[in-house]
Amino acid sequence: MVSRLIPVDPFDLVIFGGTGDLARRKILPALFRRFCAGQMSPDTQIIAAARSALDTATYRGFVTEALNEFVPNRACEEGTLAGFLAIIDYVAIDATGKDGWETLVERIQGNRVRAFYFSVGPSLFAPLAERINSYGLSTQTSRIVVEKPFGHDLTSARALNAILADNFDESQIYRIDHYLGKETVQNLMAIRFGNMLFEPLWNSQYVDHIQITVAESVGVGGRGGYYDRAGAMRDMMQNHLMQLLCLIAMEPPAKFDPDAVRDEKLKVIRALDPVQPHHIVRGQYNAAPGDEDAHPSYREAVEDPRSTTESYIALKAHISNWRWANTPFYLRTGKRLVARSSVINVMFKDAPHAIFGQEAGRHANVLSIRLQPNEGITLKVTIKEPGPGGMRLLDVPLDMSFAEALGAEGEDPPDAYERLIVDVIRGNQTLFMRGDEVEAAWGWTDPIIAGWQARGDVPKPYDSGSTGPGDAELLMKRDGRKWQGINP
Ligand code: NAD
Repeated sequence: MVSRLIPVDPFDLVIFGGTGDLARRKILPALFRRFCAGQMSPDTQIIAAARSALDTATYRGFVTEALNEFVPNRACEEGTLAGFLAIIDYVAIDATGKDGWETLVERIQGNRVRAFYFSVGPSLFAPLAERINSYGLSTQTSRIVVEKPFGHDLTSARALNAILADNFDESQIYRIDHYLGKETVQNLMAIRFGNMLFEPLWNSQYVDHIQITVAESVGVGGRGGYYDRAGAMRDMMQNHLMQLLCLIAMEPPAKFDPDAVRDEKLKVIRALDPVQPHHIVRGQYNAAPGDEDAHPSYREAVEDPRSTTESYIALKAHISNWRWANTPFYLRTGKRLVARSSVINVMFKDAPHAIFGQEAGRHANVLSIRLQPNEGITLKVTIKEPGPGGMRLLDVPLDMSFAEALGAEGEDPPDAYERLIVDVIRGNQTLFMRGDEVEAAWGWTDPIIAGWQARGDVPKPYDSGSTGPGDAELLMKRDGRKWQGINP
C-alpha cells in the first residue's frame, strides 16, 4: 500500500538554532525527506537563523554534512539534494539583541504561511517571541513551534505561556512533543476509536492495569548540565509519558479536531490523583562494571559526586473517573537501561473462570503498543498448544508491524518530526500540546517533586544495563503484578 502524498503549499520556515544539534539530527533531515518525497514545493524557503556568523554557502555545506550523516539512504531522484539546498538560506541573528532581525524581515515577504521553529535553549523562547512580534513578523499566517522543555515547573510554564500569549494567539502556538508524532501513537487513536473491538473493553472492568515504559540505553551524554537540573521526572515523565497516558486513558472525543482531542486529554490530567510517596521509585545509574570509562556513573557524567537527581523514575498513578477507577497505571522511564524500548502494555484481566483447570495455567491478553524501536502493535492471545496430549494453553502474539502491513518493508517510516512539521504548515494542532495541558501536567508533577525534596529523598542506585532499581520491581510485586520485559 502506498501512502497518499498531499503536497503542501509553499511556505517560509525559520529555524532559530539552525546550527544546533536538534536541527542537524532531526529538523533538517525531516525537511529533506519531505522534499525528497515531493511534498514540499521548490518555492518553499527555509531560513536557518543562529548566532554563528556564517554565510549561506557555508551553511549549505553544514546541511549537506548533516544529511550525509542522518539520511544516508535516499530514494530521491538525482539532483534532489541540490534542489533542497537551493531553498535554504542563512541569517546570523541574535535572539536577545538587534543583530540580524532587519535582514530576516527583508527575507520574509508575502502572505503565505510562515513558521518560526524555536530550536534554541528555553531561555530564548520569550526573547524570540517578543522580537518576532516587535519586528512585525507576526501576522495572521505566522506560527511558532516551541521545543521542550516548556517550563521547569508550573510557575515558569505559566510565565512562558503568558509571554507567548502576549505575542501570539493560542491557535498559532505549536508546543512540540515528538512522541505524539509517532505513527503508533496516532494508530493508538485509530485502534481505539476506529474499531468496535477494543473500546467496549477499554475500562476497569476488563483492564487489570496499564504499563507505560520509556527506556533508554544511553546515559545523559553531553546533556549532563541540563539534565541534572531536570531529572527523569521533568525531562520525560511530565511530558512524554503523561501525553501517552492521556491518549490511552482519554474518552472518545466527539470529533477528531484539535481542541476536542486536547479537551479530553486535559480531563485525564485533571482526574489524576496525587501520587502517594510509597508509589514512587527514583533511581540513579552506576557505572557499567568493567566499562567505567565508556559508561561512567550518573554522578560522574554530571560531574557532581553528590547529585540526588534521578535518572530513573517509576510510579503508580490513579485516574479518578468512572472508566478507570481501580485500574492502576504504572509508568517508568530511565537512562542506561538494558535496552532502548518504548512500549505501552494494556494488561487485560484473566478470564473469570478457568475451565481448562490448573494445569493450563493463567493467561491474560496483553495489547502492546510499541513506539520504538520497530513501531507496531501486538495482541497476545491464548491458544491451545499444538499436538495431542491434553489441553495445554499457549500465549502467541498477533503481530501488526506497520512496516509489513503498509508494504513499506525496508523503508524507514516517516520520522515524527516530518509529520509534525507538515502539521504545523497545514495548521493542524491536534498533535501539539495546548497551554492549559502543559500547565495541568506541571500542576500534577510539582507536588511530587516538592514531596521528595521535603523528604530529602535520595535515588536508589541501579546498575547500568539493568532494568532499573529493585524497588521498582517491588512496586509491582506488592500489588501481585510484574513489569513486562524491556526488550529491544
Ligand atoms: P544546541 O545547543 O545544539 O543549539 C543551540 C542553537 O541555538 C545553536 O544554533 C545556537 O547558534 C543557537 N543560539 C544560541 N544562542 C543564541 C542567540 N543568542 N541568538 C540566536 N541563536 C542562538 O541545542 P539543541 O540540542 O539543538 O536544542 C535546541 C532546543 O531543542 C532546546 O530547547 C532543547 O531542549 C530542545 N531539544 C533538543 C533535543 C536534541 O536531541 N538535541 C531533543 C528534544 C528537544
